[in-house]
Amino acid sequence: MPNMSLKKNEMPVQDPKIRSGNFEEVALGYTEEQAVDEAERCLNCKNKPCVGGCPVAIDIPEFISKIKERDFEGAYQIISRSSSLPAVCGRVCPQETQCESRCVRGIKGEPVAIGRLERFVADWHNAHSTSAAERPQSNGHRCAIIGAGPSGLTCAGDLARMGYDVTVYEALHLAGGVLVYGIPEFRLPKSIVQREIENLQELGVKVETNVVIGRTIEVDELFEQGFDAVFIGSGAGLPRFMNIPGENLKGVYSANEFLTRVNLMKAYREDSDTPIKNSRSVAVVGGGNVAMDAARCAKRLGAENVYIVYRRGEEEMPARKEEIHHAKEEGIEFRTLTNPVEILGNEHRFVTGMKCVEMELGEPDDSGRRKPVVKEDSEFILDVDCVIMAIGTSPNPLIRNTTEGLLTNKHGCFVADEHGLTSREGVYAGGDAVTGAATVILAMGAGKTAAKAMDEYIRSKK
Ligand code: SF4
Ligand code: SF4
Repeated sequence: MPNMSLKKNEMPVQDPKIRSGNFEEVALGYTEEQAVDEAERCLNCKNKPCVGGCPVAIDIPEFISKIKERDFEGAYQIISRSSSLPAVCGRVCPQETQCESRCVRGIKGEPVAIGRLERFVADWHNAHSTSAAERPQSNGHRCAIIGAGPSGLTCAGDLARMGYDVTVYEALHLAGGVLVYGIPEFRLPKSIVQREIENLQELGVKVETNVVIGRTIEVDELFEQGFDAVFIGSGAGLPRFMNIPGENLKGVYSANEFLTRVNLMKAYREDSDTPIKNSRSVAVVGGGNVAMDAARCAKRLGAENVYIVYRRGEEEMPARKEEIHHAKEEGIEFRTLTNPVEILGNEHRFVTGMKCVEMELGEPDDSGRRKPVVKEDSEFILDVDCVIMAIGTSPNPLIRNTTEGLLTNKHGCFVADEHGLTSREGVYAGGDAVTGAATVILAMGAGKTAAKAMDEYIRSKK
């Protein structure tokens, strides 16, 4: 008999009072008993509606059935047929708008906790498995992947499984892309990312770090070196600013810079070479997951007051509900319907405050969301000594500027068809480099689609 409870098994979490002072993971993961109990909620629907909501098409009822049988390794094998980064997806995928939004159990009650079960299975495998993945037989062809983030690693994993000799080029000194520089340790421990990358290396994927494509080597040179196809998964690392006065004061960061200092360079450790200014009061401008991550990091670094400043209402915030909830639990203050107009500084050019105006919601705009308009005579000064701009990013123009015939749109994103093919033969692209900043799982889906298309392209040339 299935478990007909209307509620998901709760995820054990660290106490908010304790966790807001440390960088350890917030969610602690299911025990075996909780995982089996949650798996029993799945009705094993024949038409598998949940699978249609997963960008990498994991066979969800099949892996959940294995959990019911307590065959956790069997469940892992099913997931890894479709996903190269299951421990990552189980943690950072917005399941509520993907697979879980299609789950029939969600019609009357909460959907099956698919993401939590995926995380459980991946963690169980990483803790118990001793055998290395079998290396597929080589097909004699080579593929280059630019960027070791979610789309690049997924594309690399799928191509390696097909027998390709795959090299991933990463500009930073560590592979993982946004998984290591963007998402904080307390949401996604870096040891988990490292382990997933090792799993790919066991399949034969080579990772070369500190290689900046467009500087160290150009796309055309990759073809000269004998690669048959190239995938660009270089992400969207160029931060946007508001273009208001004071954005060049000391104590103003882009969320990218702030998070890279904290996550990748471990600025919170005493032995870190990368300093970060101690701040008493921090404003994070933006309402997405990146804004929540930056705010929660600032709190952990010791700021007394941390504000999320967002020009629309909480309902319109693009961040995941779970992240908003966690941020509030940790004492982050939400200043919604508020927009900065100037950052103020002292004679030494340090931030001393942020001038803001209150907003109200007017008629819907092109995006369908109600447009925020300025409320009359509502100007006030928020007492802050640090401002973090988390209002989006676009792709770095370096690859476009150094590669002949590679088209981008007005946002600087690569133009690619539904298979990931760009305007250059043999060059594919996917993830944030094509869509602008989006989610890890959509980037992985794009990497997967491109891997299939690259394989077809290379085989068609034989
Ligand atoms: Fe759901 Fe994401 Fe896992 Fe797919 S990868 S099953 S969308 S949690
Ligand atoms: Fe299980 Fe929900 Fe998928 Fe049905 S829709 S198979 S209940 S996870």
